[in-house]
Amino acid sequence: MKEQSIKQPPPLENPINGRTSLQMYDLNVDEAVEEIRARGARRVVIQLPDGLKPLGFELCREIEAKTGVEVYLTSDPCYGACDLAWEAMNLLQAELTVHCGHAEIPHLNDGRTIYLEARSNVSIEKPLKEALKMVEGVRVGLLATVQHIHLLERASRILRKLGKEVYVGRAGGKLRYDGQVLGCDFTAATSISEKVDFYLVIAGGVFHAVGVEASTGKPAIAVDPYLGRAVKVSDRVEKLMKIRMATRGRMLEAKRIGVLVSLKPGQMRVGFARKIKSMLEREGKECVLIAGRELTGLNLNSFSEIDLFINTACPRIAWDDREGFMKPILNAEEAVSFLESKQKRLGIG
Ligand code: SF4
Repeated sequence: MKEQSIKQPPPLENPINGRTSLQMYDLNVDEAVEEIRARGARRVVIQLPDGLKPLGFELCREIEAKTGVEVYLTSDPCYGACDLAWEAMNLLQAELTVHCGHAEIPHLNDGRTIYLEARSNVSIEKPLKEALKMVEGVRVGLLATVQHIHLLERASRILRKLGKEVYVGRAGGKLRYDGQVLGCDFTAATSISEKVDFYLVIAGGVFHAVGVEASTGKPAIAVDPYLGRAVKVSDRVEKLMKIRMATRGRMLEAKRIGVLVSLKPGQMRVGFARKIKSMLEREGKECVLIAGRELTGLNLNSFSEIDLFINTACPRIAWDDREGFMKPILNAEEAVSFLESKQKRLGIG
């Protein structure tokens, strides 16, 4: 088979290694320093996901010392490149944000954000070989989150030596790299689903592998380089499917529905929220739109008159965080496809 050349980031030069958990990451600070100087910024905001916040102090001091700009670390949670600090930048009158740990979502950058991606420097061999014992087949779909995207080449070589055919889906949609997987974008997996017997998903935790198996119907194994182990996710997918099915039933019973709209730039879908509100109102539901930055159970449970939430923001809210909600929560795409197929069945679509 002709080997695919994988669209990959250039290797990082001059990395700084932090301590404790940070010893697992390389972050190229000089790249940000050069960019800040080149753009002549005077004030800068730094955004870090929780896992990289232990690096915040040193990072802030280093950028201040090397550029002379005033730097603010934001304490707000940051789960992805969808969550840009535009509001903080405006209020602080900063010219730039240094967004750490995630890859740019191509259509989202307004030119005021510098992305400082983090690369893990962990070993992949052991969990990869462990994963192959859990599943049958020769044709492997290989995926990784952006922190491990540079490991795809090495993983491909190992798998080919073991007699496997390796497929890596092309970048597209919200993805910057071939083979990349996001919690809200599985196109690198779905685009190769006809060609593969199973997927190996290199990521911390099982969430991305669950999403891959749920969206392709093919077995996916989570290959976790942090824990050095592989995990089969079929049981979790089955449980998730049952919950989703039950929640659709709850939507039919619900009288009062809250449609959630995120105030994070890359998650905000006002038009889609309006569309689903109209669809639900045509079904006889009473609906309200609820906007917020942190759409958590903690912030929403007090809306006690609401029977069910429909989520137009990050899909992980309804999949991963649903246990924090006292009322059922369903992702908007699922609600729309369920309502459309129901209306079609009744001949009113
Ligand atoms: S919407 Fe959710 S899954 Fe997608 S990039 Fe943002 S945090 Fe990640």
